[in-house]
Amino acid sequence: MEWKWKTIIEPFKIKTVEPLGLTTREERLTVLEQAHYNLFNIRAEKVLVDLLTDSGTGAMSAAQWGGIMVGDESYAGARSYYNFEKEIRGLTGFDEIIPVHQGRAAEKILFGVIGGKGRYIISNSHFDTTRANVEFSGAQAMDFPVKEAMDFDRPAPFKGNADIAAMEKFIKEKGAENIPLCVMTVTNNSLGGQPVSMQNLKAARGLCRKYGISMFLDCARFAENAYFIKLREKGYAQCPVKEIAQEMFKLADGAWMSAKKDALVNIGGFLAMNDRTWSAKARQMLILTEGFSTYGGLAGRDLEAIAIGLREVLDENYLQYRIRSAQYLGEGLLNHGVPIINPPGGHGVYVNAKKFLPHIKPHQFPAQALACALYLEGGIRGVEIGTLMFGKRDKAGKFLPAPMELVRLAMPRRVYTQSHIDYVIEVFGWIAKNKKRIKGLEIMEASEILPHFTAKLKPVKPGKGT
Ligand SMILES: *Cc1c(COP(=O)(O)O)cnc(C)c1O
Repeated sequence: MEWKWKTIIEPFKIKTVEPLGLTTREERLTVLEQAHYNLFNIRAEKVLVDLLTDSGTGAMSAAQWGGIMVGDESYAGARSYYNFEKEIRGLTGFDEIIPVHQGRAAEKILFGVIGGKGRYIISNSHFDTTRANVEFSGAQAMDFPVKEAMDFDRPAPFKGNADIAAMEKFIKEKGAENIPLCVMTVTNNSLGGQPVSMQNLKAARGLCRKYGISMFLDCARFAENAYFIKLREKGYAQCPVKEIAQEMFKLADGAWMSAKKDALVNIGGFLAMNDRTWSAKARQMLILTEGFSTYGGLAGRDLEAIAIGLREVLDENYLQYRIRSAQYLGEGLLNHGVPIINPPGGHGVYVNAKKFLPHIKPHQFPAQALACALYLEGGIRGVEIGTLMFGKRDKAGKFLPAPMELVRLAMPRRVYTQSHIDYVIEVFGWIAKNKKRIKGLEIMEASEILPHFTAKLKPVKPGKGT
C-alpha cells in the first residue's frame, strides 16, 4: 500500500499483553553480579526491553494462534506437515522438505552428511551456530565478506555480499573437490544483519556452477533480505517481495532456515534441497536425533504456525514497518554520537563498541562491558558479538581479540512499540555522556564450544590498567 506519511506505524493492533519486568538500578547490579556479567544468565523477568535476540521472540498473529488450535498431532503423515511442506515448496521450489526443531538442528544434520575432516565450507559469513556445526564435523568454515562489510561507518547498500574473487582464489588453492558447499547467509547476521544483493547471489551461483560446488541459503531472514533488494537494487522496485524471495531460492540448490526468525514463530526450522542422495542421508540423521520425517522434533501445531508465518512475513506493510523500526533505532543512536554499523541491518542495530569505548582494550571485552552497562542503567539486554563470541584462543586458553567488538540490539518481531525504542535511545544518550565510567571485564571461566553462552566474567579491578 502507498504510504505518504513520514511516520511509519506498527501495522497491527495488540490483542494480548504481557507485563514488563521493572527493576531498580540497585536490583540490576545484584542481578548482574549473580549472572557473572553474562546476560544469558539473567532471568528474563528482570529485563525491561529484551533485545538479546530476534530469534523465537516474535509475537504470533491471531491467525497463527488459530493454526495452533487446528494443528494435527498425528505421529506420521499429519495434515499440518503437508501444509508446511506445500508452503515451503511453493516459496523455495525445493522438492525435499525436512522439518527440524530449529536452525542448528538442520546444520548439525547437513554438516554431518557433507562435512568432515579435510573439507571446507565457504560463505559470505557463517553464523556462530553454523560455524560451530561445520567445525564440529571436522570441516573448516571460511568467511569471504566484501571489504565494505568491515568499514562500519560508511553506508553501502549490500554489505552482506560475498567477495566472489576471494572465494574463487580459495577454491583454486584448496581444490573444489574439498569444498562441498557454499553457504550464502541472508541476511548476513554476524556482520550487521546486512543484505545480500541478487547480483551477488547470481555471481556466487555462477562461481559454484563453474566448480561443481553446491550453494545453499542460510535463509533465516530471507524476507528481510528480499525487501532490501526491492528497496535498494536496480530493477526490483516494482517486483512483489514474494517473487524476489522465489528468485533468490531459485539460484540455490538448497536452504535451511531457523523459522524462529522470518517464519514469525517461537520454535522451528527446516532443511530443504533437491539432491536425493543428501536428503536420504539427512532424513536418517533426522530420525536418529530429531524425530520422524513428518514432524522433525516439532509438534503438528508448530508446523501449522510456520506455514502461516511464512505467508505473513511477505506482507509488504509488515516489512516496511520492520525495516523502518531498525532504521529508527539506528538514527536515534547516531544522533547521540553512538557509532553503529551503518546502515542499520534488517533485524536490529549493531553498536560499534570498539569505537564507542576506546578506553577499553579488546582483551577486556569492550562490547560485553557495554552490553552490561546497558542492562545496569536501563534494564536493556543486547548481545555481544566480539571477542567473547568469536575470539580464538591461544594454547593457554586465553582469548585473542576478534576483529570486531559489537553489541547487537536485535528487535523481536511485532513485540515492542515506538515508545520502547524511544526509551532505548534515551538510555543510550545517558550512557554516551557517561561512557568513561564503563570498565572492562575479565574472564573467570569459559567453555570450549560457543563460550559466550556460559562464560563467567567480572569487572577489571581499578588500577589493573586497561
Ligand atoms: C538463528 C540462526 C541460525 C541458527 O538457528 P537456531 O534456530 O537458533 O538454531 C543459523 N543461521 C542464522 C543466519 C541464524 O540467524
